[in-house]
Amino acid sequence: MTAISKPGLGTLSVWAGEEEEAPQKPSAVPVVHSVSFDYEDVDQWLEVALQKKQGHIYSRNTNPTVDAFEEKVRLLEAAEAATSFSTGMAAISNTLFTLLSPRDRVVSLKDTYGGTSKIFLEFLPRFGVEVTLCDTTDHEAIEAAVREGCQVLYLESPTNPTLKVIDLDRLAESGRNAGATVVVDNTFATPINQSPLELGAHLVIHSATKCLGGHADALGGIVCGSRELVQRIFHFREINGASLDPMAAYLLLRGMKTLHLRIRHQNESALEIARYLEGHPFVEQVFYPGLDSHENHGIAKRQMRGFGGVLSFTLKGGFDAVRASLPRLRYAHLAANLGAVDTIAGPPATTSHVECTAEEREALGIPESLVRYSVGIEDTEDLIADLEQALSHTAEKVS
Ligand SMILES: *Cc1c(COP(=O)(O)O)cnc(C)c1O
Repeated sequence: MTAISKPGLGTLSVWAGEEEEAPQKPSAVPVVHSVSFDYEDVDQWLEVALQKKQGHIYSRNTNPTVDAFEEKVRLLEAAEAATSFSTGMAAISNTLFTLLSPRDRVVSLKDTYGGTSKIFLEFLPRFGVEVTLCDTTDHEAIEAAVREGCQVLYLESPTNPTLKVIDLDRLAESGRNAGATVVVDNTFATPINQSPLELGAHLVIHSATKCLGGHADALGGIVCGSRELVQRIFHFREINGASLDPMAAYLLLRGMKTLHLRIRHQNESALEIARYLEGHPFVEQVFYPGLDSHENHGIAKRQMRGFGGVLSFTLKGGFDAVRASLPRLRYAHLAANLGAVDTIAGPPATTSHVECTAEEREALGIPESLVRYSVGIEDTEDLIADLEQALSHTAEKVS
């Protein structure tokens, strides 16, 4: 991009990745469904194949629409390089399997996304990788585990679904000192609210399915970081085959045009709703990094520009209360998703931790009375009124 002065995140959300100069180019990024790309000259074809010249050969490897999506996220994360995937889990698994070999060790948190924790507990050990999962907010324990030696330090903040916040700057430093590659899942914060690379991470990962796309109509994932690291992950992915589909890339790109507007609104709305819930007699506890009552509000204020659109809360009355009140919500999909323009609510048992047993959730400290609530772009007053009617109805019935 031609830099007049450094563009803001809103300008980048709209323009980044789409400024290729060509006469009469379409104003919107075209969806190139073609699997392959024609060459009239074999020498030219060979140069592209050897990556000496820019171009596309086969869409499992690279594709123009997918390129534009990668470029937009790359610029928002201010990274050297980015490579995309069919889903967020593909981004996570391809990254871990690129970086780790038998007898290596990875240090991570007990509160990573449910699918990620399955990779740690079920798959990596089978390949002879040692996995150490620390109590999420116990910084000393994480640092001690890292000092014992590891190849990868894998972090997530805020976490899903209890919105725990960890000090990325501090832990990235400890990872770097131990010679580990520091990876951060930035799905909940988005590049609008948090920049893990600036805080010292080597790689930042997104489930683009969530806030980046924002419309709950396309799956995707992406990893950003240095050219060298991203090239290695790209190479694994082009062979492994978990490539992003061009149509999904187009939907994600289109969704990202409004990323800045959506996230700004969701930041404000979620904070207001969290404060409302905190005052509700039927609500036991509210988890939101923007609240003064949040365990690590101080760290969140330091490392985040906004606290995001997702919050969670526990209800007095346990799972029965959750079961009774959720269906009464008029303006919330009961669904296993988050980060969309529509509000979405659900318990961990059917959303973030559907892969875990009740015992595993208990061990992870995820209460069965928890509701994850992903704030959409509706009017905040309407969402609060909706919660009020659903909760007061249940409070009457259960108590
Ligand atoms: C949803 C999610 C993922 C997985 O992404 P998919 O696109 O569903 O594969 C990873 N990390 C976090 C924090 C998520 O919320």
